[in-house]
Amino acid sequence: MTSSKQTLLVKSGDAASLPEWRSAFAELCPDLDIRWWDDPTVDPNDVVYVLVWQPQPGRIASFPNLQVIFSSAAGVDHILADPNLPRHLPIVRNASTETLQSVGEYVCLGVLALQRDLKRVLNAQRDHRWDEFQATRTAPQTRVGVMGLGNIGRLALRMLHGLGYTLAGWSLSAKSLPDITCYAGLEQLEDFLRNSDILVGLLPETPLTRGLLSASRLATLPKNAGIVSAGRGSLIVMPDLIAALDSGHLSGAVLDVFDNEPLPASDPVWDHPRIIVTGHIAGFASRHARAEYVADAIKAWRRGEPLPNIYQPARGY
Ligand code: NDP
Repeated sequence: MTSSKQTLLVKSGDAASLPEWRSAFAELCPDLDIRWWDDPTVDPNDVVYVLVWQPQPGRIASFPNLQVIFSSAAGVDHILADPNLPRHLPIVRNASTETLQSVGEYVCLGVLALQRDLKRVLNAQRDHRWDEFQATRTAPQTRVGVMGLGNIGRLALRMLHGLGYTLAGWSLSAKSLPDITCYAGLEQLEDFLRNSDILVGLLPETPLTRGLLSASRLATLPKNAGIVSAGRGSLIVMPDLIAALDSGHLSGAVLDVFDNEPLPASDPVWDHPRIIVTGHIAGFASRHARAEYVADAIKAWRRGEPLPNIYQPARGY
């Protein structure tokens, strides 16, 4: 290294966000030199950490002394997409409490919207039509199945528990959680789906989760089931979901994530009468909260302690 200065390069938001990142890190980890991603005055040898969202392919490989890659988000698919990514470097997934809280809130919003048929309410308001109807079931009568029992899935389930829903979860490895019927692995997926009136997608994107919800799996859900999708859009085969909604097998969907983002204005999903679309807004976390998560991890790393919440290549997330 040419100097003892430790530089953290940021690519999250746009360059105008740099002062906010700097002020957060000045408070949390004052000895770090915080610079923007393509600042030409930065010596690549000084770059020890990067904090990124969708880094340009090849750029991370240009820092010879890089020690840790910090994802600005919970997912890492936007980093793994780089074919030249140095595979030996640890990648820390951001699990700030604000992110978990806000996705949990979104899940509750989506589940309540489906259970109370908010789309029907919005359609009636748009048409100035007084539409008196009652929900078909209450929360305790509604079985919510959450795909993904990680940081976010477990908090979302705690929040849904507070609303009185009957709860189940599905993960890769077997789990035991209070008040939750837990399913694991592909061999238990069908059982899990068969018992989910509202299915919530909170899985990372991996080769195993891509396209998991195809026509046959959607057909396994009970009639009139609904779907909240807030993990990654690749989980759902979209034409199969549309067909299941159009046939009346499924009653509605609340979708925050899409295979192709931003969802093109011409996409018919926007106007589907049974779908609520939001633009990848489930997980909000302030820059300060994300910086705090990164600063705590850097302090642990410097003390020689393990990094939190790292991506594990063998399992793909
Ligand atoms: P975690 O890594 O903490 O949890 C992932 C969960 O998914 C684990 O329970 C894991 O199982 C399970 N899982 C992974 N692969 C499979 C599989 N093939 N079959 C069954 N279960 C599987 O992630 P987070 O909870 O922090 O986040 C989940 C995802 O949510 C992120 O990867 C990101 O893509 C998305 N996200 C979306 C946001 C938004 O704004 N819409 C915001 C934040 C995150 P196991 O427990 O056995 O490891």
